[in-house]
Amino acid sequence: MSGRTRFAGLLGHHRTLQALTRALDENRLSPALIFHGPAGVGKLTAAAELARHLLCPSGDGRACGACDSCRRVNPGSLLHPDLGLLYPKRKEDASEKAAGEAPLAAPDLHSIQDEARKNASWRILADPARERLSQLFLSPSMGRRRILLVLAAERLQEESGNALLKVLEEPPPTAVLLLLCENLTALLPTLRSRCQAFRFGTLSREDVARLLISESGLPPAQARVLASLSGGRIGRALALARDAAGYRERRAELSRVLGEAHELGTAAAALSAAAEIQAKDGDTLEDLAILSDLIRDSMLRGCGCPPRLLTDPATASDKTLPAFKPQEAAAHLVRVERAREDLRRYVNRQLALESLFLDLVKSPPGLGSVD
Ligand SMILES: [Zn+2]
Repeated sequence: MSGRTRFAGLLGHHRTLQALTRALDENRLSPALIFHGPAGVGKLTAAAELARHLLCPSGDGRACGACDSCRRVNPGSLLHPDLGLLYPKRKEDASEKAAGEAPLAAPDLHSIQDEARKNASWRILADPARERLSQLFLSPSMGRRRILLVLAAERLQEESGNALLKVLEEPPPTAVLLLLCENLTALLPTLRSRCQAFRFGTLSREDVARLLISESGLPPAQARVLASLSGGRIGRALALARDAAGYRERRAELSRVLGEAHELGTAAAALSAAAEIQAKDGDTLEDLAILSDLIRDSMLRGCGCPPRLLTDPATASDKTLPAFKPQEAAAHLVRVERAREDLRRYVNRQLALESLFLDLVKSPPGLGSVD
């Protein structure tokens, strides 16, 4: 990477990255930062690059890109002694490995993040949190700082959150805490107020399509379709480029499940839809993202929007997808978003899906059965 322009390899987020660059240039970056925004838009890539800039011993807040320190901050294989990592884990894993456990040899940050996403009940447990936080008080071994990167920070257990807050009250002068989360409001207000927050929103379809063409070598027409399906999330777009057939198949399944439940409109149908979605051991948050896309597409199709504006133009002729009235669709979209929140707040998966579908099968109040 060139040492001259920071964040040049990142797509989109111009204003956010400009603000970060300015803070680095003026040496007024807060010791506690939050990068927040939807999954798969580049928060982790930006965090790794920021860590590289901060850790490079060249010392002017700009990674040289060539030294040992810079090479060790690699999201695919992280090997830097001054960059600690904290992320959600299964409860049993914490009791097996007491404080002082050896860190993973060279963790792949994206895999850790994916695994945490798939296991919504995992949390950032107190023992590893205290262990990692204590390392911030040691002198840096390579450069001039120690960084703790916290993935999925909304999953901090109360005890771990308090341990973190305590460090933030009087952080060691060499420490930087970098928290990543999807939803800023899911963090403790006391934690938010002590951090400088940077928002990473979804990207434009054009940006994502451009990346797909350059990274995956897709033909432009196909790249545009996948960019649209991705909802502005690079992570999802790249996953789609690897397995578009798998995504389409799941989307078709969910469209059918939603359609059947809507048509029957009974509690029994709602519960059976929830059970069917749960039976497949997939990523429930991703399933909910697809449900949102389907409801949105149904609404746009109902309003006569041209197929190219739908997340999937093929939806224009999808017979299984119910035709929601605009008001109904709007209420359903809010309801699906609440189910995503529920899952992030550790509501049991079955309960979250069942209560979601019980609401989706009825018309929202005020709509009645007017045609
Ligand atoms: Zn360097």
